[in-house]
Parts: sequence; C-alpha cells; structure tokens
Amino acid sequence: MQMTTSKEFAQKLDSEDTLAKYRGQFFIPPGKTRAEQLYFTGNSLGLQPKSVVDYIQQELNDWQKLGVEGHFHGKNPWFSYHHFFDKEAKLVGAKPEEVVVMNNLTVNLHLLLASFYRPTQSRYKIIMEGGAFPSDMYVIESQVKQHGFAYEDAVVEINPRAGEYALRTEDIVAKIKEVGEECALVFFSGVQYYTGQAFDIKVLTEAAHSVGAYAGFDCAHAAGNIKMALHDWNVDFAAWCTYKYLNSSPGGVSGVFVHEKHGNNPDTPRLAGWWGHKESERFQMKKGFIPEPGAAGWQLSNAPVLAMAAHKASLDMFDEVGMDALVAKGKLLNTFLEHVVMDAQASNDKLEFEIITPAERGCQLSMLTNENGKALFDYLTERDVIADWRQPNVIRLAPVPMYNSFMDVWEFGELLKGF
Ligand SMILES: *Cc1c(COP(=O)(O)O)cnc(C)c1O
Repeated sequence: MQMTTSKEFAQKLDSEDTLAKYRGQFFIPPGKTRAEQLYFTGNSLGLQPKSVVDYIQQELNDWQKLGVEGHFHGKNPWFSYHHFFDKEAKLVGAKPEEVVVMNNLTVNLHLLLASFYRPTQSRYKIIMEGGAFPSDMYVIESQVKQHGFAYEDAVVEINPRAGEYALRTEDIVAKIKEVGEECALVFFSGVQYYTGQAFDIKVLTEAAHSVGAYAGFDCAHAAGNIKMALHDWNVDFAAWCTYKYLNSSPGGVSGVFVHEKHGNNPDTPRLAGWWGHKESERFQMKKGFIPEPGAAGWQLSNAPVLAMAAHKASLDMFDEVGMDALVAKGKLLNTFLEHVVMDAQASNDKLEFEIITPAERGCQLSMLTNENGKALFDYLTERDVIADWRQPNVIRLAPVPMYNSFMDVWEFGELLKGF
C-alpha cells in the first residue's frame, strides 16, 4: 500500500480500521475550538473507558449490600480479586502465574529490587540507560546507597553516541560484557519515555545472563504498546503502570512479572506481607511465611479493589482486542503520523524539528524542536492538540490504536502546516 497524507487516504484507513468502533467506548475530552480534543497523550494518561463507571459501581454495590462479606460473597469476591487479572499476562507475553497486579509502579520496583538486587562486594553494579525516567533514577540511586555503595561507582549509565539520540544495542551489550562479573543487574525501560525507543529486551537479557547478572525492565511505556514475550525472553522481572497505554485511571495499579524460575522457588528472597502468603492458609493467621507460588507471592496487601476495578474494565477490552491487532494498527497509525509530520515540515519553513524516535518503537514520535519549540507547542495546545512537552525541547506525540483515528492524525497535520 502506497501511503499518502491526503484526507481521502486518512478516511480510507479509518473505514478499513477494524478497531474503529472502540473509539466510541472512550470519553474523548471536549475541546475549546472543536468538539473533541486531538488527544495524543495516551502514553501519559490513557483516556477513560465508558465502562469504568459500571465496574466500579459493581464493587460499591457489593460493599453497600455485603460489607465485609464481599470478600467471599461479592459478585467478584475481593479475597481472590487479583485472579481476575490473570489475563494481564497476555499483554506482556507471560504465563498467568508469572504476573500479578498490585501497588504502584515505583513501589513495585523497590519490591523487585529487594529480590533481585542483592549486591556483594565484588558484584554490585547496575547498568542502566542514561536519562532514565526520574522515578527509576531515584529508585536505583536509593537502592545502591541503601546497600552502602556510591552512586558513581555502582551505577553505570549508558548514553547515546555523540550526535545520536537512540542507544545502540551493540553498545549496551559491549558495556555489559565490559562490566562483566561486577554486574549485578541490567535494568532498562522497555520503551524509553523520552525518545520512544523500544529496547531489544531479549538481547539485553541474554547479555545480562551471560555475565551472571539479572535482567529487569520497567515496562511503563511498553505495556499495552509493543508486543513482548517476557517469559520466552527469560526476563527475570518487570513492572509497569496501567494508567498510560492501558487506560486504567490516574495513579492506577501496577503490573508485575516475575519469571517462574524465581516465582516458583519459595527461597527467592523477598519482602513479604499477608496477601502473598499461601492462599489456602491466608486467613489462618499462622506464624511463618509460606509464599503463594508465582508472582502472587510478592503481594503485600489486600487488593485496592476500586482502583483495580478501573483496570479490570480496561483489561477486559484489551483482552477482547488482543495485542496483535493493537500493534498492527498502532504501527500504521504511527507511520501515518510520521508521514504527515514530515509533509507539514516540507511545506512550512517555520517548522524546524527532527524526529528522534528510531524505527524500533511503539506508538510515539518525539519531535526535537529548536528555540521555536515552545511557541509551536503552545500554538498546538491552543488549538486543542493535547501533546506533551518535555524539557528541554521535545514534543511527544502518541497516537494510540484503541481510540485515535487516522483523521485525528490528518487534522493534526493540517494544524501543523498552519503554524
Ligand atoms: C510513568 C513512569 C513511572 C511512574 O511511576 P509511578 O510509580 O506510577 O508514579 C515510573 N517509571 C517510568 C519509566 C515511567 O514511564
């Protein structure tokens, strides 16, 4: 198919889009200058599925009518509420027992590092991307300090080569080999939040294992965005939030992956709480922690049911659509956006920017602008384009396959041309 950037072409893509009906199942925020915003920040906060209200109402009703009995006699008993999320595993290519939904992302990263960052005097270094998401930087900084190491010594950051924006897999692998037996952990994002680069999780995991280190990934921007196979890639652990591409409410719950080789080993060290205890004996209130097998054995607390209900609404939609269909549309949508943006640039001398997102990516384009960048961003915002601005001068755009249309992208292009 030859891609053009005409309106007719965008309309044709929309008419052929098998996911088009899902747009109507979301609340698209109203604009000031148009009926609906051109919402391109599904990578930051996904929109609200219309079904969320019913899912939460169900739990409120059970709480009203059953009180504590809702734990066992509710429609969706809260005692085993986390089992409704077994299908979360399909989003990330894992076995159901390898995934659990609990807490928030940063909390979960610390819990996972309690298990997978247990440095010794000779093996204590963490290799990570330079310019990681701030929470990840602080997690790693506080973890190494907590274990008595100096940041500069214990944390090895890898940055792009001069004049480049993405990291080369070969450079990361070379650094892992170089650090070798001193390396305790390779910790990367699945998709880089700033550049949109999708890392080669499989190759990085192999490289980590080849030097005897663990490999863990923050999949905040990868879950619900790119196709992953965390189990087959032999990843040790991962975590993600569900409020970005997964549309599960601001500050919503987080997903956790622990590979079965660790999850089914009751001796894998961890910080424990009653909800991770062997489920059949959980309410016996006995002394001595026996973990539930799988990722469920990392749970601390009983499920925050209202937040999880919002996630359940969204997860049921993702399960219905499937990652293959989402990724297929997402790729087309993002490629169309790239064409539209480059076309606009060719037609308007005032548009000076460079796309820094490499070909290995999900649904995101990051436009590196110049000193005009903020003016461009403000111009777009005034016209109801919801993108996001990242210091010092990047505009991030994420057209998502669940609810963005090809016409959204085309209309964005028209606005861009008019800058
Ligand atoms: C969004 C994001 C977070 C946010 O963490 P919370 O604990 O959910 O506030 C952390 N890390 C990365 C890489 C992110 O993209």
